[in-house]
Amino acid sequence: MSIANNAPSGQTPQLNYRTAIGLGLIHLGAIAAVFPVFFSWSGLAVAIVAAWVTGGLGITLGYHRLLTHRSFHAPKAVEYALAVCGVLALQGGPTDWVATHRKHHAFSDRDGDPHNSALGMAWAHIGWLVLANKDRVKDGEFKRWAEDLQRVSFYRFLDRSMLAIQVLFALALFAIGGWSWVIWGVFVRLVLVYHVTWLVNSAAHGSGYQSYASGDRSKNCWWVALAAFGEGWHNNHHAFPSSARHGIAWFEFDLTWLTIRIMRFLRLAHNVKIPTPEMLDRLRLNKSPVMKAAERRGVV
Ligand SMILES: [Zn+2]
Ligand SMILES: [Zn+2]
Repeated sequence: MSIANNAPSGQTPQLNYRTAIGLGLIHLGAIAAVFPVFFSWSGLAVAIVAAWVTGGLGITLGYHRLLTHRSFHAPKAVEYALAVCGVLALQGGPTDWVATHRKHHAFSDRDGDPHNSALGMAWAHIGWLVLANKDRVKDGEFKRWAEDLQRVSFYRFLDRSMLAIQVLFALALFAIGGWSWVIWGVFVRLVLVYHVTWLVNSAAHGSGYQSYASGDRSKNCWWVALAAFGEGWHNNHHAFPSSARHGIAWFEFDLTWLTIRIMRFLRLAHNVKIPTPEMLDRLRLNKSPVMKAAERRGVV
């Protein structure tokens, strides 16, 4: 069975060997967690904390809401610390991640989108990474999508050192907690954060509801939002990409928005952007309950 892909029609897509083998080995490492010899409660705790630090603070808060969309500003030391947390998620250096995600917004769900969900959930989840993908940002294109990051020497250093930083982190865990901490704190945690991040590209472009006219298939999906630190309110995000707040309705809990509010209180975040009531009204799709009830009764 082959999954939908963006190879020219009739051609079998090639594997992206480097990524496919790398992700395969990391998943194999995570499977080692089924052996009781590798289990420890402290290892589990390390995995949970590291998942939040790398997935919540690194990818969601740092790479996504700060570096990609500049939805708030932070002191340089805070910005750089968040970028280091992002690098530890092993999803690419800041320039690659930001460029890919900005391109996703520019071509959302159509030709040109690096993880175009119109090609199916399997492609949007993992196929786009492990198969040849004509829509990934190519070497000569990073200047177009992420020149602001390319100009910063610290980000160029992180781009080059992603793997070395992960190995150093693994060695530190091994020195403190042995193999249990490495299996749980590196392999299980990486796999968990990978799939949570990828669910934003797949499930949150497929299942859920739309509150705002975003012009694409993005959805608000409550279970992705819970797993992905607020990122599942993805239709809101595509409608208002530069908003620091993704959960807009009162019931749309957004842990990262809560984090940004705490940072603002501590003066670690400023220029925090959120949509104005007029902006929300302009794109709002769902009618008020009063209007819906009137429609049901055939009054309007
Ligand atoms: Zn999206
Ligand atoms: Zn985004």
